Amino acid sequence: MDNVTPLGGDVYEIDTRMAGYSGITAGYLILGDRPCLVETGTSTSAPVVRDALSSLGVGPDDLATVVVTHIHLDHAGGVGDIAGYYPSAEIVVHEKGARHLADPSRLMASAKMVWGDKLDVLFGTLAPTDAARIRALGDTGTIDLGNGRTLASHYSPGHAKHHVGLLDSHTGDLYVGDAAGVYLPETGDLRPATPPPDFDLDVALGSIALFTALKPQRLLFSHYGPVDDVSPILERSAEELRIWVDLTKQARAEGLDLDHAVAMVRERTRERYAALRAGDATAEQFELLSGAPSNVAGIMHWLDLIPR
Ligand SMILES: [Zn+2]
Repeated sequence: MDNVTPLGGDVYEIDTRMAGYSGITAGYLILGDRPCLVETGTSTSAPVVRDALSSLGVGPDDLATVVVTHIHLDHAGGVGDIAGYYPSAEIVVHEKGARHLADPSRLMASAKMVWGDKLDVLFGTLAPTDAARIRALGDTGTIDLGNGRTLASHYSPGHAKHHVGLLDSHTGDLYVGDAAGVYLPETGDLRPATPPPDFDLDVALGSIALFTALKPQRLLFSHYGPVDDVSPILERSAEELRIWVDLTKQARAEGLDLDHAVAMVRERTRERYAALRAGDATAEQFELLSGAPSNVAGIMHWLDLIPR
C-alpha cells in the first residue's frame, strides 16, 4: 500500500491520513510475535489503519497491543474504533490519560471548545474503550513485543501531562510523540508543539533531556517520520522551545494581546523554517499541528501560572 513504508527492524510507518492529508500523522506497526501499533491516528483514520495492517498480514485477532504516546485526538482519536476491530489487543496509555479513553466525554467537550466546527472534519469522534482492556502506565512500563523484544515507556510530560516516549529494545527506536516537536521531513524543519493547557517549559526540557539520556538510535516522530540524526535534532527541540518562550515573554512584556503576540512570534520565527521561507505547501502541516496561535496560547497559559 502506498501509505505503508518499511523502516527496517520489522517496523512499518503508516500514514494515517488525518482529514485526508498525506504526511501529517504517522502511526507505526512493530511486526513481531506480538504485533504492536504505536498511535492510531484520528477516528476517521481507523479504516485507513485497518487496511494498512491487513496489507501487512495483521488480521482481527493478531494485534496484541495498541499504545499511544498521549491522548490528543491526532494520536489517540481512533483508539475506540481500533479496539473494536482488534478484540484481542490490549490498549496501553499513561495513567493520566487512561480514564479519558474509557470515557471520552470530557476530552471531546474540551476539544470541541478548542476546534469548534472543525472538530468533526479534522478528528471525528473518539469512541469509548472498555476499561477492562486498558492498561495504565506509570513513570515507566514495558510492552512485550515477543521473542524477548520490548518497548519501554518513559513518562515525558511538557507537551501534555499524559505523554510517554517509547524505546524499542531491539532497534533503539524512540517514539517521541509530540514531546520533541513537529518535524517536517521535506525540509528538515523542526518546530515546537506547546499547546494549552499542559505546556510547561521546564518540564518539556526535562523530557528532552530524558530522551537524550536514553541514547536512542533513531527518533520516530508522529509528525512526521524517522530521524537518524538524534543528538542535533533533540538539541534543536530544546532550542526551539526556548526561542518561542523568549519571544512570547517579550510580546507579553510589551502588553500585546494574544492575536498581536501570535503575529509577532510568527513573524520573528518565520526565517527559522525553510518551509515558511519558501511558502512551501508543507507549511500547512505546521499550522495544523503546531500552529502559532496554539503554541503562543499554550506558552501564555503557562506564563500566567508562574507565580511572580
Ligand atoms: Zn500531535
